Amino acid sequence: MIDRLSIEVIGHINSCFTEKFGTPRQSGLVPSAAARLRLCDPFNRREMVRGLEEFSHLWIHFVFHQAMEDGWKSTVRPPRLGGSRRIGVWATRSPHRPNFMGLSVVKLEGIEFDHGVELLLTGVDLLDGTPVLDIKPYLPSSDRIEDASAGWAAPELEALEVAYRPEAADFCSAYETKTGVPLRQLISEVLRQDPRPPSQREKKEMYGMRLYDINVRWQASGASCLVRSCEKIG
Ligand code: SAM
Repeated sequence: MIDRLSIEVIGHINSCFTEKFGTPRQSGLVPSAAARLRLCDPFNRREMVRGLEEFSHLWIHFVFHQAMEDGWKSTVRPPRLGGSRRIGVWATRSPHRPNFMGLSVVKLEGIEFDHGVELLLTGVDLLDGTPVLDIKPYLPSSDRIEDASAGWAAPELEALEVAYRPEAADFCSAYETKTGVPLRQLISEVLRQDPRPPSQREKKEMYGMRLYDINVRWQASGASCLVRSCEKIG
């Protein structure tokens, strides 16, 4: 029986999520969340992606590298349950799992060959720098299960309403013109998911969150939030 494996990283993610806070709880929740998967040598041969462009979505197997330092846990308290209930790690998608392996379905927007092989992805829930172990095409005919049940993880229906102060809106427009990044749409999609830990949802606090090289400051109250400012970091 094999009880130890050595696995090679096949690539790395460059993502808009440069810190954990604000990173979506699952892939697909923030459609504008963009990333670039840069394949490493020798897994970046052009023929290895031949035919991949025919698929709209991919499974990405990756490593929760930023969870490794804290180690794995046999039970976790999913934020969605307000941190009040302990669930067995195998019944969760927690990063703190043995082997630290993650699995996300993402949209394939394109493949570029200017610098090796790079896959352009959206709908990601991956931190910048995430090591990738494997890529597989998503097959709707077998991977989609219409009557699957989601237990304690059934989707949350409430979404935050997002408004902007004029200066923050102007910053987003200028950033979009300069870089082509739909910053305002990205911020809105992230905030609609309410990234606050459930224990803080009653409070009216100011939050800071980093997307790309931008610090976004926002304040939530009830079911709405206001983006107060956006600033370039550094
Ligand atoms: N879709 C994946 C899965 O089910 O395996 C990930 C789900 S996990 C609940 C998503 C969270 O993992 C994100 O909100 C972010 O905080 C965290 N995350 C993403 N990339 C990570 C990384 N490289 N290291 C540690 N945590 C990461």
